[in-house]
Amino acid sequence: MSSACSVVRGVTVESWEIPIDTGEVPADGSDFDVVVVGGGPGGSAAAAYNALNGCKVLLIEKNVWPRDKVCGDAVGGKSLSHVEELGVLPMVQSTPYYQVDSILFGSASGAEVRVMLPKESYEEKGLMSGYSLPRVQFDYMMFKKATEIVKENGGAVIQGFTVKEILSETTGGVTAIKGVSGKFGGSRSESPILSFKSLVTIGAGGYNCPVSRKITEVHGEPHKDDDHFCGGYREYWEGVEGLEDPEGPIEIHFVDEVIPGYFWLFPVGDGVVNVGIGMLISEEKKGKRKGSWRGLRKTQKWLINEHPRFKDRFANSKMVEGSAKGWQLPFGSPRKNPPSHQPRRGAMAGAMTVGDAASLVDPFSGEGIGNALLSAKLTSKHFDKSLHSDGFTLEASEAYMEELWDVLGKELSNSKTLQKMMKWKRLTSWFINKANKKKEIGTLMSEMIASKDAQTELWNPWFLFKTLVLP
Ligand SMILES: Cc1cc2nc3c(=O)[nH]c(=O)nc-3n(C[C@H](O)[C@H](O)[C@H](O)COP(=O)(O)OP(=O)(O)OC[C@H]3O[C@@H](n4cnc5c(N)ncnc54)[C@H](O)[C@@H]3O)c2cc1C
Repeated sequence: MSSACSVVRGVTVESWEIPIDTGEVPADGSDFDVVVVGGGPGGSAAAAYNALNGCKVLLIEKNVWPRDKVCGDAVGGKSLSHVEELGVLPMVQSTPYYQVDSILFGSASGAEVRVMLPKESYEEKGLMSGYSLPRVQFDYMMFKKATEIVKENGGAVIQGFTVKEILSETTGGVTAIKGVSGKFGGSRSESPILSFKSLVTIGAGGYNCPVSRKITEVHGEPHKDDDHFCGGYREYWEGVEGLEDPEGPIEIHFVDEVIPGYFWLFPVGDGVVNVGIGMLISEEKKGKRKGSWRGLRKTQKWLINEHPRFKDRFANSKMVEGSAKGWQLPFGSPRKNPPSHQPRRGAMAGAMTVGDAASLVDPFSGEGIGNALLSAKLTSKHFDKSLHSDGFTLEASEAYMEELWDVLGKELSNSKTLQKMMKWKRLTSWFINKANKKKEIGTLMSEMIASKDAQTELWNPWFLFKTLVLP
């Protein structure tokens, strides 16, 4: 992919290849109001929102920007208000991106339906209806803006520094997180261990975040669960037939070999398409036991080279070298009989987690950026440096987890039901076939994507009967 500084849509492109100057490293033992572990979208937003609240923040990232992140690269409507609120939208719009106007769903039987996104309702708010762009660009802009905001408010930012240990203290039977320690990697691998203290530590280190592991360990609760973790695999391709334009659909295909996960084709601008598959780890393991599942990468290779619906579209295309990578998605689906909080314990005295570290990825669509940003903003509502000048209490952490599930619980539970329904291949094919012929179903799907409230309609039996069964 090209990333040269140039003019796109009349605007000078901000390059995402120039290193970000994060300035001086704070001295060992420095105190902060908030330490954020991880500088992905969740961590960058948490650092920025808390700094805007007047907190002295330390944002720590183990990689050095620009850095890649395995993803489908689709940034949905939920993210847009935060991206705009933090002042990142103009930066994102000044880089090449793909304008998403619709979603094309394909069923196992080959039926397809293209659902248009309600562009007008977004445009009224001055926003785009949806877009996709490589995470190397999106995350760079988020981190760069967060660095500016954090530093303007007296905080500090460190890159290339891996948090290795979460510092805690137990008083009166309550264990509270007090800070973090870690060291620089790469050429600075001989660097000394540095520690930083804080009133609250925010874990934003993704699916294997050391803060979220510490939280579940201290409270003796499970961290990883194969029924709620998904394996994902991504490659970038150039020249995929039907997706050459700068605006159009993103494609989601429920093909036999991947159900209940899906195979996606998401253009990301500049003629490049993000191609990938995702599948629940428990399903993937079942397949392996039967000997029919040969790994996500192998399945994708077969879909591209041999599947009758896709092979011609890839006939003149080329994979971008070095783009083949896998990663995990921690779903926010409700757990059966959770020991304390849904979807998983995500906070304790002295700490909160956001985004993937809090296991908040939508179990149907695989979207996680929106919930990462939403939870990041919520941490700034629940932490107050005056109120919590003696530390962030266990009660405050409970209040955060409760509000998070109040806000997201309904849509995450609905998405889990949809995910389960996808196992019934005939039902999916019938639904997509029907949607192709019946306008109301297309409208319902479009509203479901734009508004999570509309998803509740799906569980209204009369509505379902009327829409699906009546001619
Ligand atoms: C294959 C795949 C496809 C996906 N498709 C989509 C999609 O199309 N749309 C969508 O919205 N979501 C998608 N997701 C989900 C999305 O990628 C995540 O939900 C999102 O990245 C979560 O953001 P985050 O900031 O919580 O975590 P991350 O983006 O994972 O960021 C975590 C950061 O923490 C840093 N870190 C980790 N450990 C440490 C440490 N010890 N010390 C310091 N720093 C540390 C990491 O380097 C990283 O920068 C997809 C995910 C996968 C795997």
